[in-house]
Amino acid sequence: MSGPTSIESVLSESRVFPVFPNLERDARIAGMAAYEELCQKAEQDYPGYWADLARDRLVWTKPFTQVLDDSKPPFYKWFHDGELNVSANCLDKHLGTPTEHKTALIFEADGGEVTKVTFRELYEQVCQFANGLKALGYKTGERALIYMPMSVQAIVAMQACARLGITHSVVFGGFSAKSLHERAVDVGATLVITADEQRRGGRAIPLKNAVDEALSAGDCQAVRHVIVYKRTGGPVAWHEGRDLWWEEVVKGQSADCPAVSVNAEHPLFVLYTSGSTGKPKGVQHSSAGYLLGAILSVQWTFDAKDSDVFWCTADIGWVTGHTFITYGPLAAGLTQVVFEGVPTYPDAGRFWNMIERHGVTVFYTAPTAIRSLTKAAEADEAIHPKQYNLDTLRIIGSVGEPINPEAWMWYFKNVGRERCPIVDTWWQTETGGHVITPLPGATPLKPGSCGLPFPGMDVAIVDEVGEEAERGNGGFLVIRKPWPNMIRTIWGDPDRFVKSYFPPELKGYYLAGDGAQRDTDGYFWVMGRIDDVLNVSGHRLGTMEVESALVAHPLVAEAAVVGKPDPTTGEAIVAFVVLNGDLPAGAEADKIAAELRNWVGKEIGPIAKPREIRFGENLPKTRSGKIMRRLLRFVANNEPITQDVSTLENPAILDQLSEAH
Ligand code: ATP
Ligand code: MG
Repeated sequence: MSGPTSIESVLSESRVFPVFPNLERDARIAGMAAYEELCQKAEQDYPGYWADLARDRLVWTKPFTQVLDDSKPPFYKWFHDGELNVSANCLDKHLGTPTEHKTALIFEADGGEVTKVTFRELYEQVCQFANGLKALGYKTGERALIYMPMSVQAIVAMQACARLGITHSVVFGGFSAKSLHERAVDVGATLVITADEQRRGGRAIPLKNAVDEALSAGDCQAVRHVIVYKRTGGPVAWHEGRDLWWEEVVKGQSADCPAVSVNAEHPLFVLYTSGSTGKPKGVQHSSAGYLLGAILSVQWTFDAKDSDVFWCTADIGWVTGHTFITYGPLAAGLTQVVFEGVPTYPDAGRFWNMIERHGVTVFYTAPTAIRSLTKAAEADEAIHPKQYNLDTLRIIGSVGEPINPEAWMWYFKNVGRERCPIVDTWWQTETGGHVITPLPGATPLKPGSCGLPFPGMDVAIVDEVGEEAERGNGGFLVIRKPWPNMIRTIWGDPDRFVKSYFPPELKGYYLAGDGAQRDTDGYFWVMGRIDDVLNVSGHRLGTMEVESALVAHPLVAEAAVVGKPDPTTGEAIVAFVVLNGDLPAGAEADKIAAELRNWVGKEIGPIAKPREIRFGENLPKTRSGKIMRRLLRFVANNEPITQDVSTLENPAILDQLSEAH
């Protein structure tokens, strides 16, 4: 195992923002003492801590008596003699309560059309669709692939599967037929739920065509039906007997459908990771443990209130969309905004405009969106967030990548107006819910740090034999105890599960794959992926440090750095930079490159000066907006790319960067 033993330079960030007293006053976790009390409770009686929460937050059809089964590590089971249904915990639970007629979804389509759905209405839609699936013969234990645009129907499809105990696997609508095919085969799907087309930024993009292509290979015979939701009315090919319109499936079906009671460990879904570091892994999640984590993450990290209008901008194709759209907010009884479009259409003020129109109180997005909207706002005053009334916001969040202190400050000032805490939430597809995050009523904020462990989570930074690193030293980010909403296995590949996450030398700890350090206050600073750590003349540097220094320069919008073998220094740093203005060329580019090199030298130290700087209009990113440094390493070395690029958003950018100097 290669990775950081010590990241020697420490982030220079020293700003601290205290907890806002108005938020602390009525918070679910009010003040540091309340936070510490929860942590202590978990430390003193770990199973008891989770059992109490599971009894309190979940509705069980058969109560559990066993909490954690750790007899076959790392294949842990939680609450495993209990039974429940996840969809009943999101919908049926609210019937007969004041939440029944509350708005559950405020769906805004790409073109701006708004549809509101109450909890009662959503329950009925889910039941009708579930009854339709039952009528087609679908049963508990089968797997459904969901390849849909952001829509009420996508949530209905996921919930209906959960209601029947059908394990779903959602594939992001931006993926190709090839990716879809791989996932359909890997997960053994017998059902595909899709739409004719999706709309993104005013354009219609076919979905059903990709399904047809994916299923045309001989190894997808198990798929009995393709259910098609008519989103645009665009042309589709039709396979009689296999294909069905959504409307036909729900027609005449009862609006009540008993939820199937499943075992706590029943696989609710399999979701493929975003592929930043390699071939995506089919992460299998449980029912009870997963849902418990989803509810707690919504309630504690966002200090959920009954009056909130919650908006997570993620797509349901990512875990963030599962936990913070389909499951968490519904189970917590919150009104939420669901959005089909893109942040830059009809203009880059779309998010701010939607926050204003819908009175959003909690806003949760990704650093990639913040960086691109910053760039747009700085170029065009008219769509700058300051032009919008964002007074309803209470809490703003970030997820997906480290957020550089510079981007953090912009978000804090311009969107949060210096009165909303930023919850920078560190977690993964595999963790199901938040693992490290500030809590709005308890944690003082440090720009660029994801704060402290989520209550109950045993997170640490360790060296290569699993010993806890000294504060200030870098190391591997691990989770030392199993937790309820952890990954259960990699679908169909238990060996890869063990190998990827539980290396024998780390005492059985869960290895996250990120390098991080803890400061003397116990705050976590994610430095980057273990695979991406730079080693220059024996000094270990996180990609995050060098990139944050670059982004702190007023000319720079985004940056990614990678190492390139070097005979004298071991590794030399190559930086790929996107400027706020136009792409520079010739002498202009050389001048800016020299200035940026000196800037990094001053910000971190001469050792961190990039040897080479290449400018581009963008960076290679996954479909979820994460920078793919592993591909940039090939570009830096002028080598052909031999790795998996199926999850890459913008392949053309690799050519531009290859030619850039
Ligand atoms: P793959 O595992 O296939 O390479 P991936 O790791 O990008 O893909 P996800 O599960 O979507 O797939 O992403 C989790 C990763 O995202 C984390 O391991 C971490 O590197 C990064 N991440 C998420 N949130 C944060 C955050 N708040 N701060 C820093 N990094 C974050
Ligand atoms: Mg990962």
